[in-house]
Amino acid sequence: MTPQEFRRHLHAHPELSFEEHHTAEFIEERLREEGIECRRIAETGVLARLEGSGDLSRAIVLRADIDALPVCEQTGLEYASQREGVMHACGHDIHAAVLFGVLQRLHREHNFNGTIFGLFQPGEECNPGGASKVLAENPFEHYDIVAVIGEHTDSTLEVGEFGFKSGNFMASSDELRFRVHGRGGHAAMRDKIDDTVTAAAALTLALNALNDNDTVLSIGHVTADGATNVIPNEVALEGTLRTFEQPGSEPGTARARAWSNIEDAVGAIDKKYGTTTTIDINRGYPCVANDEQLTATAKELCAKHFTAKDLQRRYTAEDFGFYCERYPSLFYRLGVGEQAGRSHSSTFAPDERAIEAGIEFMLRLALKIL
Ligand SMILES: [Zn+2]
Ligand SMILES: [Zn+2]
Repeated sequence: MTPQEFRRHLHAHPELSFEEHHTAEFIEERLREEGIECRRIAETGVLARLEGSGDLSRAIVLRADIDALPVCEQTGLEYASQREGVMHACGHDIHAAVLFGVLQRLHREHNFNGTIFGLFQPGEECNPGGASKVLAENPFEHYDIVAVIGEHTDSTLEVGEFGFKSGNFMASSDELRFRVHGRGGHAAMRDKIDDTVTAAAALTLALNALNDNDTVLSIGHVTADGATNVIPNEVALEGTLRTFEQPGSEPGTARARAWSNIEDAVGAIDKKYGTTTTIDINRGYPCVANDEQLTATAKELCAKHFTAKDLQRRYTAEDFGFYCERYPSLFYRLGVGEQAGRSHSSTFAPDERAIEAGIEFMLRLALKIL
């Protein structure tokens, strides 16, 4: 099967995060047809392994995500989604096809030293992220992982263009929920109440003041269900926290500092207003921090055969960050052409020529690193 056919099959049969049962079966079958050893991982993921020669404990991991989104496809493509309300609208079908193509060619055509893992990872779009589930199984325990490589489609880049950013590339992401409790009551009897609404407003401002160059904190949802003359017992705030790590610091330092600053801000507000506030931090993905040496190697290699572009850091998040915390990692962007449109939209349609470019580059990069 060609990588393009592989992609079109996945595109026509998309599955949501952690429900990639058919997808995983399909990938296993195609790999076995090629004679490539593979097994299930994180339930609906597939881990392929190619052994070269020399020291087999030295290994790299090539990672593609495989989940789709709850979007109703409106591309009109002949291979459009056959599942109502589910669509490969983030290009993960392209990522999987590129990885399949790379493994196919490595297996058929190449000699290399060490071990190459091909990781078809489930559940990128959804907390806690398939990457955390993969790593919880310790699949690379007895290996010296010298690189984890992943990519993402990018419609701001043309086919044949690849985007790189050394160090901090994508932010960590956490969901924040606060409940400000107090004695509500008659709004005219202020000496008998705790003003939960004013406390929540002051907390919003205090949290907002935590924004800086490496931290983004926004409150996007406020519920204070009182009335013109009623102060409610509880006000709820919900928001998002994004952080970037300082180069050279321990992974998670900036994020942990932000969590502690949030606690301090809440403590100060409760003290001032007599309220009791609960904090719920739903931990999302860590920062995607690209290894400097790997990025430099990849960019130099890319410039010889394709067009290498420098990118700015992004405030969106990716569960690829879990690999970055543990291994030297590189996450780069694969151009799929401007006419592809916005990802996560019902008309997202990447240029399929990106598959061949993606294969060619990832293959060269894998061989170069090993
Ligand atoms: Zn996405
Ligand atoms: Zn994506």
